[in-house]
Amino acid sequence: MVNPKHKLPASISLDLDNQWSYMKIHGDKGWEKFPSYLDTFIPYVLKVLDGLGLKITFFIVGQDAAIEANHKALREITDAGHEVGNHSFSHESWLHTLSKEKISQEIELTETYIQQATGMKPVGFRGPGFSWSREVIEILTERGYLYDASTLPTWIGPIARLYYFWKSKLSKEEKKERVGLFGSFSDGFRRLKPYNWQLGKEQILEIPVTTMPVFRIPFHLSYLLYLSIYSEILMNLYLGMAISLCKLTRNPISFLLHPLDLIGGDQIPELDFFPGMKLKSDVKVKIFNQVIGKLSRHFELMNMDSFAEYVFKRKVKVKNI
Ligand SMILES: [Zn+2]
Repeated sequence: MVNPKHKLPASISLDLDNQWSYMKIHGDKGWEKFPSYLDTFIPYVLKVLDGLGLKITFFIVGQDAAIEANHKALREITDAGHEVGNHSFSHESWLHTLSKEKISQEIELTETYIQQATGMKPVGFRGPGFSWSREVIEILTERGYLYDASTLPTWIGPIARLYYFWKSKLSKEEKKERVGLFGSFSDGFRRLKPYNWQLGKEQILEIPVTTMPVFRIPFHLSYLLYLSIYSEILMNLYLGMAISLCKLTRNPISFLLHPLDLIGGDQIPELDFFPGMKLKSDVKVKIFNQVIGKLSRHFELMNMDSFAEYVFKRKVKVKNI
């Protein structure tokens, strides 16, 4: 029997989206040269994590790992004892629309380059912009991956998409290409607890990004930070409610971070135009420390790999894909 006093696990992961991918999302010219802030961001975030004694998972984009100038910074991640995961090669959020052959290339290339850059072979995958498909899961299973972490069980995807179109400078064609971006309302009915996908005789673990049980609204760091701009009290109430509901439903947490949640326009002036970048880095870190402090009082914090291992020891539901 599960001891009710025993803390459930919470995995912490960071999608290492680089400067060029934010420029690309926004429709800015110059992204094609792959401008990078990894030299600034990685040493900075490793120091923040070290201060908290946290070991997390970094989902790395293959295109970044393919550029030798980024290798030194990327290597620091594994040298510091963190896990690295696969975040696709070209970070195109419409991964689900590509052919199986193209998806296979995206995953395989990234795996090779991450291993070259960091010395670690990824065992986990997260699709860019929460994009995934049956083909993605099939390829991951064929390649012996331990887990996929691409699903976001929320109904707000279409609203996030409208906001994104409104804020970006995309052409009609580009908008058409991105039509399935961030999922549909029905994603709000997806399972929130980790489960196994069944593919023939094989299984692979699915670790959804946790949204608030019952309400199915996201509470990852970008959302908390956004709330904190209005009121830190409101942010703490919102997070407190998410934590209580997760404890009540015995739902382990997969908590997601992005670089711009932790670093401000004071260090990356090139992305000053992005929402929330007016906040200074030390303000963001202060919020992050508060959030991690609160989470760690109720959950055992760990990287995705250890989280997957924890889940494997228990019985999880099996779903056909
Ligand atoms: Zn990403």
